[in-house]
Amino acid sequence: MGSDLYALDFDGVLCDSCGESSLSAVKAAKVRWPFVFEQVDATMEEWIVEQMYTLRPVVETGYENLLLVRLLVEIRVPSTRKSSVADGLTVQEILENWLQLKPTIMADWQEDRDSLVDLFGRVRDDWIKNDFSGWIGANRFYPGTADALKFSSSEVYIVTTKQSRFAEALLKELAGIDFPSERIYGLGTGPKVKVLQQLQQMPQHQGLRFHFVEDRLATLKNVIKEPALDKWNLYLVTWGYITQKEMEEAEGISRIQLVDLPDFSKKFK
Ligand SMILES: [Mg+2]
Repeated sequence: MGSDLYALDFDGVLCDSCGESSLSAVKAAKVRWPFVFEQVDATMEEWIVEQMYTLRPVVETGYENLLLVRLLVEIRVPSTRKSSVADGLTVQEILENWLQLKPTIMADWQEDRDSLVDLFGRVRDDWIKNDFSGWIGANRFYPGTADALKFSSSEVYIVTTKQSRFAEALLKELAGIDFPSERIYGLGTGPKVKVLQQLQQMPQHQGLRFHFVEDRLATLKNVIKEPALDKWNLYLVTWGYITQKEMEEAEGISRIQLVDLPDFSKKFK
């Protein structure tokens, strides 16, 4: 065993799941809000998935994809509007103001987080059950990340807001890796800041160097705010779901190192 411990985010670091999560969101949104989505034809569905690549950096947890796809429909089709914000809203404005928009539309639509999380997971489970290869094929690993993971001599954990079982299935089927499930901290295991604290406190991890690799700047900033996590080296990956603006901001934060794909594969050995 090496003397480094890596905690890796999953989506946007190891796996590009944007196509899959957008399609899952459209499927789930059709179940939840049929009156909105009966207006959506194949062309508009394509447009939605395309916009979701731009919007992906704002998504922290999967269910937010559902909110975004409905909001996109409300922008395009005035007769579906139930939110107070859709009129005249642009994709760029969603990107910049998501944290304010999210609670507003959830209140306007009288939605709650937990049932959307459940629904999103259920729709994915159905997709996996009924069309496993189609679901797997909607994802891909970023070039080199699967090998880096396979041949690493470090202690590796995955810390993700995805449900663990999905991360495990993708690692197995797309990357051919039997990743131990007890090393995946998925949705429901608590905030990442708490998971990192747990990892550093485990007796078997004493004396290791700690590294946390993320594509979400806000998450790294939360780690910086926590003095108990001072020991962690923090990396922001440049290939993930991240905006130019966030990368520029990160360059001004001394605690954070920007890392590109070749660097990551090298470091990880
Ligand atoms: Mg991520």
